[in-house]
Amino acid sequence: MRDFSSDHRWLSINTATIRKQRGVEQPLLDILESCAREGIRAVSPWRDQVAAAGLAATARTVRAHGLELSGYCRGGMFTATDGGGLEAAHEDNRRAVDEACELASRCLVLVVGSLPGALQGKAAHKNLSLARQQVFDGIGKLLDYARAQGMPLAIEPLHPMYAADRACVNTLEQALDICDALDPERSGALGVAVDMYHVWWDPKLKAQIERAGKTRLLAFHVCDWLTPTNDLLNDRGMMGDGVIDIPQARGWMESQGFDGFCEVEIFSNTWWQRSGDETLQACIERHRTCV
Ligand code: ZN
Repeated sequence: MRDFSSDHRWLSINTATIRKQRGVEQPLLDILESCAREGIRAVSPWRDQVAAAGLAATARTVRAHGLELSGYCRGGMFTATDGGGLEAAHEDNRRAVDEACELASRCLVLVVGSLPGALQGKAAHKNLSLARQQVFDGIGKLLDYARAQGMPLAIEPLHPMYAADRACVNTLEQALDICDALDPERSGALGVAVDMYHVWWDPKLKAQIERAGKTRLLAFHVCDWLTPTNDLLNDRGMMGDGVIDIPQARGWMESQGFDGFCEVEIFSNTWWQRSGDETLQACIERHRTCV
């Protein structure tokens, strides 16, 4: 297992972690600048942040600072109530692949979606099987395009508390079943993003990481699970402040050959109240001691 105690060369910052300090949206190019200043070598930005900063300007800034993208957030949201909606989702996902290519990301992260309308407050139906079928079909169709562009797709299973609205793929086992069906040759074009916040509780976690193997382990996201958790979305903990045994899981990942970045992804009303620099310092320190 890699020794993280003396440097942070394998730390990546998901840019949501320092995107709205004290309620003020931070410009992406400033965030990239801050990361580079702290010797951070990789980031994972969100599409809306890139859109606001401009794709070309973002790509230029990433290159100028010698930064890498551990992932691009995000594609997915494959479900819809009709054919037009499914097609619109596909088109949007193709654009996400193109952007990820422009930014030379290691992968495009997929948050797959679930019951249409649920995220906006009213689900159009209760047919979770249909949603899962649409997700399967949508990933299959996008995979053809992404493979041709050379952009790996990383399915991110989300904690079951998001099963209605954000993702109907909730375990690594489910995600890997999709990978096995759509990419049986294990080509490297399709895999998973292992986000500890979503999968730490899973009794099959170790077994599924082993099943995934190096070719399917495309990304590793870390933060912590706080007790109590006060908000379903924006109360993620800094590594070391909660109950997740992150080093144990990293050991399982690395024993399969995973040698990529450990991406800190913290949506937190608490950490967003501090300055970006203070939060970055905490990420660096905890990456050394708790990851
Ligand atoms: Zn994640």
